[in-house]
Amino acid sequence: MAKLPIQFLVCSFFIVLALHSFSVTSQETEDESEFSYSANSPTGPARWGEIHADWGACSNGTMQSPIDMSSERVKIVSHLGRLRRSYKPTDAVLRNRGHDMMLRWEGEAGAIEINGTEYALHQCHWHSPSEHTINGRRYDLELHLVHESADGKVAVVGIMYKTGRPDSFLSSLTDHLAAVTDITDGERAVGVIDPRDIKIGSRKYYRYIGSLTVPPCTENVVWSFIRKVRTVTREQVRLLRVAVHDSSDTNARPLQAINKRPIELFRPNDNERD
Ligand SMILES: [Zn+2]
Repeated sequence: MAKLPIQFLVCSFFIVLALHSFSVTSQETEDESEFSYSANSPTGPARWGEIHADWGACSNGTMQSPIDMSSERVKIVSHLGRLRRSYKPTDAVLRNRGHDMMLRWEGEAGAIEINGTEYALHQCHWHSPSEHTINGRRYDLELHLVHESADGKVAVVGIMYKTGRPDSFLSSLTDHLAAVTDITDGERAVGVIDPRDIKIGSRKYYRYIGSLTVPPCTENVVWSFIRKVRTVTREQVRLLRVAVHDSSDTNARPLQAINKRPIELFRPNDNERD
């Protein structure tokens, strides 16, 4: 008598397993992105380096991102100087990349200058939850502003957000975000967007040398990470997440090994107010 429920359970287990594999397979055929964020998927973060020959840095790289910026590793410095941004408003396009939402400037959106090199602003996009952590703490959202120099070097400015008051830049994009929801590879012209509307609110920032956090995980990316954690509403994070429809509810790459890389924290001298 006791055997019947067990056989029934075992049988149900295999039916559920079969249905699950079927649904996963059909989702993947629909999903055009070649990589995913699901830990157990053959296209998940641990396998990114095997998907394409030129994605090898994702598994073999020694200066990968994201990392944890813990205070015992961070060296406080003043020599880096303030982040020199000279952004300007220009036409932009909002694109659903399948695993994230990207705002790409079509015209000249200005630049940042690091060690005498100008890096032009190309696009920004969001990860949730945050990819980097500060003293082991993960926040709700992370914005990446991606810049490139004339000779192809990449510099990313990162900003983190925790749940709280709305972020005014995201508020200004609400209608556009809703409009590109569920259009994979969909684009929408959103008119003139001023990158100066992306608030930073502090002069302190971390600097380290890392990589792109998505394939091909290209290294020697100059990271500038704003120290101040800003705020965003739960609804704004949700809107960014539902707009893309990959099978995972996250688009944050796991933390990568630091490999003794220095992390600096720029803090203005005492005579300069923060
Ligand atoms: Zn990113």
